[in-house]
Amino acid sequence: MKTETVPLAGPSPGTTRSLTRHHWGHGDARPKVYLQGGLHADEMPGPLALYHLMALLDEAEAEGRITGHIVVVPLANPIGLSEWLLHKPVGRRDLEGAQNFNRGYPDLAALAGGALAGKLGADAAANVRAIRKAFAESLSDLRPETEVDELRLRLIEGSFDADHVLDLHCDHHAVMHHYTSSAQAGIGELLGRAVGSKLALIADLSGGNAFDEAHTAPWRDLRARFPDHPIPDPCFATTLEYRGQQDVSDPLALADAEGLMAFISAVGAIIDGPQLLHPPAETAPLAGAVEFFAPIGGIVSWITVPGDRVEEGQVLGHITDAALRRRLPITAPTTGLLFRQELWTSCLKGQGLCHVAGTEIRRQGDLLSN
Ligand SMILES: [Zn+2]
Repeated sequence: MKTETVPLAGPSPGTTRSLTRHHWGHGDARPKVYLQGGLHADEMPGPLALYHLMALLDEAEAEGRITGHIVVVPLANPIGLSEWLLHKPVGRRDLEGAQNFNRGYPDLAALAGGALAGKLGADAAANVRAIRKAFAESLSDLRPETEVDELRLRLIEGSFDADHVLDLHCDHHAVMHHYTSSAQAGIGELLGRAVGSKLALIADLSGGNAFDEAHTAPWRDLRARFPDHPIPDPCFATTLEYRGQQDVSDPLALADAEGLMAFISAVGAIIDGPQLLHPPAETAPLAGAVEFFAPIGGIVSWITVPGDRVEEGQVLGHITDAALRRRLPITAPTTGLLFRQELWTSCLKGQGLCHVAGTEIRRQGDLLSN
């Protein structure tokens, strides 16, 4: 095991932070599996699971079972972790520019595409090597302006050449689910069977260049740009939502660490890992996941829970304006799996309150919530 401390230049005099990356296995070994948690710094189930995973990786290393290269960044967002406002952790957006920490990652295809002209051939594996080299060079040329940009760059520098990228998040109240592209669908199925994700939301382009998408979209873009050369999808990347923000406990995190070990073993980065214990996740198009928006502000109460299967129009809960003695229903915006609900027990008019994953395409454009 090797630990790397990556400094972030401070945004103001007297202020610096650092990012900690832990490595198991040889740096050149494949597959390279990259896991990070806490990119949204108010989401702690992932970091606690990674804490327990690291102990399991130490054991595997002591027993000589590590065959690939495993990188763990348990707390991916030291900026967000320090941001509290009015006694609450903020964590999702930076307080200086209100940017979502999981958007706006460098567009590797745009950065490296020009340099790749004339450098690709008929051998797909050689093309992957040439493209990863060009990605590394273009990242080393970037000069980030803000601390948030620097954090994004330092994170992707550690992950851009990985075979598998798992970005561990959580939702408000939710069942375990994950977002991914169609790249390497077989690995996505293994992931569900390993960690127990209930729902895979699939989109090839969800908009905003989130961390996971920044690892898969460039290969598709380069295929379109260089159609005469074979360019595969060498990276599986996902945003894995470890249930809700309050689902933080050692029993859950230990079981989740075992599930991650099962995944790492199934993709061949360790040997003799845990078995795949779960059925594959149900899949649905991200464009079929529809949100219910509050028609009035008020008190939010539920008569359903995440994981319920619901019919379009079914009453899921209520918004109550106790001052005016008025109550309106929260209704299912489509038929499918109610997979998440908001954490808060009050809402503003227009606020999104829950999502139902249906199979029918209902949305276009940017598909991610802010
Ligand atoms: Zn998140």
